Amino acid sequence: MIVVMRAGCQKPDVDRVVHLVREMGLKDHVIVGTERTVVALIGDDRAKDKSKLEACPGVDRVVDILAPYKIASRQTHPEPSVIPLGGALNPKVGGKQVCMMAGPCSIENRSMLMEIAHAVKEAGATCLRGGAFKPRTNPYEFQGLGEKGLEMLAEAGEETGLPVCTEVMSIDQVLVVAKYADVLQIGTRNMHNFNLLMAVGKTDKPVLLKRGWSATLNEFLLAAEYIIQSGNPNVILCERGIRTHEDHVRNTLPLATVPAVKRESHLPIVVDPAHGTGRAYMVPSMARAAIAAGADGIMVEVHCDPQHAWTDGAQSLTLDAFAQMMRECRAVAEAVGREL
Ligand code: PEP
Ligand code: MN
Repeated sequence: MIVVMRAGCQKPDVDRVVHLVREMGLKDHVIVGTERTVVALIGDDRAKDKSKLEACPGVDRVVDILAPYKIASRQTHPEPSVIPLGGALNPKVGGKQVCMMAGPCSIENRSMLMEIAHAVKEAGATCLRGGAFKPRTNPYEFQGLGEKGLEMLAEAGEETGLPVCTEVMSIDQVLVVAKYADVLQIGTRNMHNFNLLMAVGKTDKPVLLKRGWSATLNEFLLAAEYIIQSGNPNVILCERGIRTHEDHVRNTLPLATVPAVKRESHLPIVVDPAHGTGRAYMVPSMARAAIAAGADGIMVEVHCDPQHAWTDGAQSLTLDAFAQMMRECRAVAEAVGREL
């Protein structure tokens, strides 16, 4: 941190700041300029309370130098993390290979899941997704098949060799979801559920952490920090769109998150253009753009009959549209030095 003093502040003001810095267990370095005096804090100040310094008379502002997240930060881990997803094929996210996660929004029954699983595998998907516990805005809508759905998902994973990813909504679901799934998904609505983040952090399964729809990048990376700090280093970030005034899309998909995450963190970043747009026709364009921007993976929703899907049909690709998107994405991946 750097404490910038107000122009014309008095020496006792600077002395008070220096005293407080020492009280915090840090060293100080006072730089007296022609216009302003600044006090630089030396040492790891990430857990220190900035507001104490802001409250001192004569202080103009306090500027962070170190990112508040430590283990999720590139400052402490310059090499990108490469995370194995499990399953017989055990694909990795974060290396040269772009990961394609595809499957229905919700698991509706065994036969639809098997049909979709085989089709996406055939087209080149590397991970099967499917919701069994669904976070629904409306309590009267389909809530997911629960453990029955998890059983079907695990079976589809075994049949295809694909790792399976599904959402865990609460602490009491962690054990059962971890029993069947290879990858635990934390949904956008739960990104700020710190107790849940710590609970999945105590498992040995990779976690796909979706960005809260109103979370800043800082909050997103601090949520990842919760998981890693609880013992689980295998966190995959997922940009799934944020709430804005736009009404031609369900969410606004900020692809700038990709280079921003790459600069700030070593964790891989996946983009979800299905929830990010809410419109099936936009999904392939945004998937291609995400890969071009450097995303380590794409998550999309695929359904054999989107018009009759129980959830998120409007943003689900048909099996053919998915196969077509895969071909296009592969060309983009190759163009930017990746594989798909
Ligand atoms: C989902 O992946 O089906 C889902 C509910 O996602 P989100 O948490 O991003 O809304
Ligand atoms: Mn969905």
